Parts: sequence; C-alpha cells; structure tokens
Amino acid sequence: MNKLTSYTIKEIHKAYHEKILTPTNFVDLCLQKAKQTSELNAFVNLTSDEAENHGIESEKRFYIDKKTKPLDGISIGIKDNFCTSNIPTTCASEMLKNFVPTYDATVYARLRAAGACLIGKCNLDEFAMGAGTVDSIFGPTRNPWGYNRDNWKIAGGSSGGSAVAVSSGACVAAIGSDTGGSTRNPAALCGVIGLKPTYGLVSRYGLIPLVNSMDVPGILSRSVEDTVKVLNCVAGPDIFDSTTIKKEFKLVSLKEDFDLSKVRIGIPSEYHCEGMSHEVVDAWKFVTDLLENKKAMMSQVSLPHTSVSIAVYSILNQCEVASNMARYDGLEYGLRTKEDHSTEELYASSRSLGFNNVVRSRIFAGNYFLLTRNYEKYFVKAMKLRRLIYNDFKDVFNGENGVDLLLTPTTLSDAPSYESFVSKHNRDQCAFQDYCTQPANMAGIPAVSIPIRLSKNGLPLSLQLMGPSLSEELLLNVARKIEQLVNFPYLDCFKV
Ligand code: GLN
Repeated sequence: MNKLTSYTIKEIHKAYHEKILTPTNFVDLCLQKAKQTSELNAFVNLTSDEAENHGIESEKRFYIDKKTKPLDGISIGIKDNFCTSNIPTTCASEMLKNFVPTYDATVYARLRAAGACLIGKCNLDEFAMGAGTVDSIFGPTRNPWGYNRDNWKIAGGSSGGSAVAVSSGACVAAIGSDTGGSTRNPAALCGVIGLKPTYGLVSRYGLIPLVNSMDVPGILSRSVEDTVKVLNCVAGPDIFDSTTIKKEFKLVSLKEDFDLSKVRIGIPSEYHCEGMSHEVVDAWKFVTDLLENKKAMMSQVSLPHTSVSIAVYSILNQCEVASNMARYDGLEYGLRTKEDHSTEELYASSRSLGFNNVVRSRIFAGNYFLLTRNYEKYFVKAMKLRRLIYNDFKDVFNGENGVDLLLTPTTLSDAPSYESFVSKHNRDQCAFQDYCTQPANMAGIPAVSIPIRLSKNGLPLSLQLMGPSLSEELLLNVARKIEQLVNFPYLDCFKV
C-alpha cells in the first residue's frame, strides 16, 4: 500500500489488469487515506457513496465488460467551485454553503465519462480569492510537508485542498482553478505538478466564475504523464462555453526520445524580483544548468512589463469580481437573511453576511475602479497594459531570436508558516505570491509548475515553464524531461 499511492495511472491500471489491486479496493484505500489525513483539511466534503459506486462501475468494466475507459478506477478530487450535480458546491463561502447544483461542470462530466472516481470536493479560499487556502469557512488547509499539529505550513492557494488531496495520496489527480496562479501556486508549495492550460482549451462551464477573462480549470497530479492523461480527457471545445477554442483538440503525446537540443528556452530577467529567496534562485540556476548540459538552447530574455503586471492583474481582477459577484443578491441563489424591511436591505444584509472581508473588499475596490469618473483612469488603462504584457510574450516567442518556452520560479519562496502568512493582508500576500504566475493568465498562455528539490527546511521548491498559446505538447514534454532529470522525492504518503 505504501508504494501504491505513488503509482502513476499507468501503473495502477497494470495492477488492475494483474488483479494485484481492484478499482473498488483502491477507491477504498483512497477514502481511508483521506480520513486518516483529515487534519490536513483537504476536503470540504468526502463523497464516499459516489466514490464507492464509481469504483464498482469501473470494476465491472475491467473484469466483466472488459471494455475500460482511460481513467477507470482513478481517484480524483474536485475543487469546490466546480458544480457537481446533487453534491453541494460551496465555494468555501457562507453565501453558497447550502447550494446544491442541478448540473455538472463540463470538466467533471468529462472525467466521469472517462471513468474517474470522485473522492471528494476540495477546500479553497472563499470564491478562489487568495494564495494560501487560509480563508475558507471550513478553516485552513494544511501542507502535508513537515506537518505537525502545532507548527504547519500553508498549502498555498487558492486550490490548496486539491494540491493536498494529491500530495497526501488521497487522490491520483485533482482539478483546481487558475485565475492568477491558484493551481500552480499550491502545486509548487505541496510538491506536485500543476498545469494551467491555454485559456479556452478546457471548458469553464460549471466553474463558478472569479475573473471570466482569465479563469481556467487546472490539473494537479504527481507526474507529468498523469497530467497529460487527465488533460486529454478534459480538453476540447464545449458547446456550453462559448469561450472554448473551437478547433478540435489534438491529444497531447509524450515522446520517450524527446530531444532537448532543439528547444530554445528563455530566462526572463524581470522574474528575478525583490523578495525572491536565494534557495529559489539557486534551484532556478540548477535547472538552467541541467538543461544546458542536455544541450537545450538557453538564453536571457526580457519581458519589460512584468513589474507592472501584478498591479494590472489586481485592478482587472477586482473589476470582474465586482461584476461577477452581483449575481449573489439574496434572492436567486445562496444565502438569504431574514431582513424584510426592503429589498435593498435584504441585498445588503445577505451580501454582508454571505461574503468574507476579502470578497467584500474586492467588490468594493472593483466598483470604485468602475465608477464613471475612474473608468478610464483604472480599468481602461489596465486593459491597455494587459495588451502590452501580452505583446511582451508575443515578442519573446515570435520575435527575432525568439524562444520556444520560458523558465521561471513558480513562487518566491518555499511554503510559509500559517502564522507568518496570515499576519499580512490577503491583498499584500497575493501581490507577493502571484508575482510569477499571474502574467500567464493575463496573456492566456499555458504554464506548468514542476517540483524540483527540497529547501533546507525540507519543503518543496518548484519552477514554472510557460509557452505560447496551445503549446501544451512541447511544454509537457520539456516538463517531463525536467521531472526525469531532477527526480523529485514525492512525499511518502504514509508518514503524515
Ligand atoms: N491569488 C490570486 C487571487 O487571489 C489568484 C487566484 C486564483 O488563481 N484563483 O486573485
């Protein structure tokens, strides 16, 4: 069992064929694992009945029908901002605490159609606003690395529950959402792979929106190979989401003999920023040298607008949040207080009780930026800068001396302790934590976080690869090469 939780999907399927393990067995072990590690608070809701039923269906396909699906008997976790029919979907907020959707998000529907077994819904920062998974009505999620009851590190966020579900061994893969880094950030801090696909490659239908122009479902897993398997099941056009890329999705394939010598990788100098720990810089240098030794063409490049990106992200985020959150009015969905003096007072009291401080302050700031007198000064200006940030990427990928991919850190340090993280305001934390991740969302390009090695505190340090739109195949082939070169010591799932 110890080894089983570190098996890849391929190895699990082999074990099913050889009957060393069966889907119902494995699902049961995953549920046990989730219960044993409940202190980590990865799940807001364990879906034991669904998991068991899904396991039984997979078992039948394996041994009776002998016609299996690509993710049969594979345990998954879904961030609790993706709608799941007849299963509560809370966004970790009072506002949606009792919300039970009547339909499935496309990502979940596709995973189910591929045979995956749902272990549970994963914890997050309220409405995915955060970088720690510390602001949830269900309490914070704890990082399994170096965990002890009195002293533990944050999981990163906002998909911290999904990252911990995978790194602690309860799930083989999990779905997060990524608006400014929320899949890559917790993946980096919890030592797993975190993929943010190209905007529009994976449907947002049923993902409760944060920032529609940047949101993408993300994938967390313990190997690049598994990430590819999951991506191949969920990507592609969806009639329910008009922003999905209409082109037919070409399955990503990993090549055993992938040759790094033809790949040009840029190191953007602007990502060396203030506050980056020297251990992160060393890990970055270490992988640059490794790739150079393998004959990849490494070069310094420049993305001149990087330093303004975080401010632009923050303005646009808050503007879209202000408009998205308007749907929660106490009438149609979610929390409704007993206030009965007037409709306005009902709105106000429902929204003030339903949202935490972070959500309320983003709505407030967003509405301020969108006031007629401020609109040009903030929103329009931020949109113009977003275009320049996008053009920086375009130039670096397509210009003279262009590169194929970019290599940067994912986070500026290893996982901070809970106390140090919550001592700063959410806004300041995001400004620091999202420095390297949000530019990819602003440009809509794919990015993947790969764990590299452990810091002196024994915590994961990770790097990020970014590529042009729809370059997932190259991105993931290079990510796998890095994964093989660094041989990261995934968590021994039974030591928690
Ligand atoms: N930390 C960022 C924010 O709070 C990222 C959120 C996300 O990607 N969901 O906006």
